[in-house]
Amino acid sequence: MKAALLRAFGQPLSLEDVPRPVLADDEVVVRVCACGIDGTDLKLLDGFGYTPDLPFVMGHEPAGVVAEVGAAVTEFRPGERVIPYIFFHCERCRLCLRGREQLCPRMSGVLGVKGHHGGYAQYLKVPARQLVTVPEGLAWTDAAVLCDAGLTAYHAIGRARLGPGETVVVIGVGGVGSFVVQLARQEAARVIAVEQTPAKVEHAQRMGADHVLASGGQDVAAEVRHLTEGWGADCVFDVVGTRATLAAGIDCLASGGRLVVVGYTPEEYPLSGKRVAQGELTIVGTRGGCKHDLRAVAWLAAHGGLHSVVSDVRPFEQVNEALALLRAGRVLGRLVLEMPQA
Ligand SMILES: [Zn+2]
Repeated sequence: MKAALLRAFGQPLSLEDVPRPVLADDEVVVRVCACGIDGTDLKLLDGFGYTPDLPFVMGHEPAGVVAEVGAAVTEFRPGERVIPYIFFHCERCRLCLRGREQLCPRMSGVLGVKGHHGGYAQYLKVPARQLVTVPEGLAWTDAAVLCDAGLTAYHAIGRARLGPGETVVVIGVGGVGSFVVQLARQEAARVIAVEQTPAKVEHAQRMGADHVLASGGQDVAAEVRHLTEGWGADCVFDVVGTRATLAAGIDCLASGGRLVVVGYTPEEYPLSGKRVAQGELTIVGTRGGCKHDLRAVAWLAAHGGLHSVVSDVRPFEQVNEALALLRAGRVLGRLVLEMPQA
């Protein structure tokens, strides 16, 4: 099968012919139809944050068709449409038992990120327990981006506990942010998006933001206060996570507000204890989502009136060009690769 291998950090992926994965009894081989790419892939390429053993097949947003099932698999059959839950959790620890599988300390890896090869290949294999059915009517490209972008956004919205009429600021409207904007609107919140370039401002408007601020030329916190009669935002989603965006996020908050930290970078931000205490601020972390979140967001994507967050589809052979586009900041929403069919 064709696969794009990460052979050395800092180098382009190498397109090669490799053997198809071999099944264990509890596993399923999936023929990949589409696979999203995002900022985690750039971190992997650079060797920042995640350092899988090499060579490695990246790709943590695959969607496809069951091609083959192991002898002990009863819940899936060849031909079924599936997406994987990417966190390989233990199912037994106290966090797994509380439905917080993405925090499992005994995790054996993350599909396409560490420990388990991902979807930049014609086939991948996973234990059947990691798979979720793709609802009818959902395009492969839209199904693929649920594995990370959709899952992360859905879980972050749950963590935020939004109420009707609240003002929400979303900093960064890429793949995850595009879902956050839409899901916050579904909670009857008023959404102010923050983006940098005119093309990304337009994209945020298409995703349904009530207002979009261009972060380059505006004092975001002052603009948010202006739009809220001086109060500030009830909730800020920082989907970027630089020192500057964390600072802007805190500055935007009304007293009693919540900052939901979705994205992160190596940068740190010095938080004022006085500001947090005196303003009764809540800082909320969020990581991926649990398996139930993936089922829920897949249902919403198929039946809940969400717009597609996919703006660009490229053939798999252009994987390195696609990663370069992402690095240059030229991707709106999500870019998805389409796989060659055997
Ligand atoms: Zn566990």
